[in-house]
Amino acid sequence: MAQTNNEQNQIDPSKIAIARRAFMLASALFLVGCGTKKVASTLPSPIWPGAKQHVLDETVIILPEPTMTLGAISRGNWAKGQLIPRHMNRMLPVRYITIHHDGMNAFTSTAKSSAASRLETIRKSHLRRDGGRWGDIGYHFAIDPAGRLWQARPLTWQGAHVRAKNEGNIGVVVLGNYERQSVNRAQLAAVSSTLQSLMKKYKLPMSKVRTHQEWAATACPGRSLQQAMVGIRGRKQI
Ligand SMILES: [Zn+2]
Repeated sequence: MAQTNNEQNQIDPSKIAIARRAFMLASALFLVGCGTKKVASTLPSPIWPGAKQHVLDETVIILPEPTMTLGAISRGNWAKGQLIPRHMNRMLPVRYITIHHDGMNAFTSTAKSSAASRLETIRKSHLRRDGGRWGDIGYHFAIDPAGRLWQARPLTWQGAHVRAKNEGNIGVVVLGNYERQSVNRAQLAAVSSTLQSLMKKYKLPMSKVRTHQEWAATACPGRSLQQAMVGIRGRKQI
């Protein structure tokens, strides 16, 4: 409910963008139509600086940050590029949570900067997928070897992490390769608390928490993390 209220209290940015575009288009047509310096000089200045040069641009709609970030380190702290909204779909009601590993080389560094650069490496590689048709890193959250939680793709947008099963599916990646390394205690605690928060928020039972290999034939999330997930789900409470 809180999320709904927040959204209702905010001015829809798309409406502002449309209003601005309509105003500037009208101004531009007027200028083109009469085309004399005299008329132009009597027009008021644009009410926002620099807007005139964007008159005929594709309008970029900047969506509000989703309220559901679980206190994660925000995307702005690691991503070196903007989201590409035209390559993403809006998130649908949440029905599943899926756990992944990144499957690259083993990764044990607990430095914040190492996790940030690894996330950026993943984002860049995801942007190249399917001929460059991905709008951002595919996962919604990431957990590093120190147990930090990072915001990846904002929950406003559907993820891209389980082929053909991304609708309403939150993707959580544990950074590292759990075929080649073991999940440490800090990561295990972070996975548990993240799942607990998401399950509570979206009213999901444990049966809706899956690993990638439970959807499709893949080694992801690796033997060690798969075993850890079986253990987490076997407990009465996480
Ligand atoms: Zn996976």
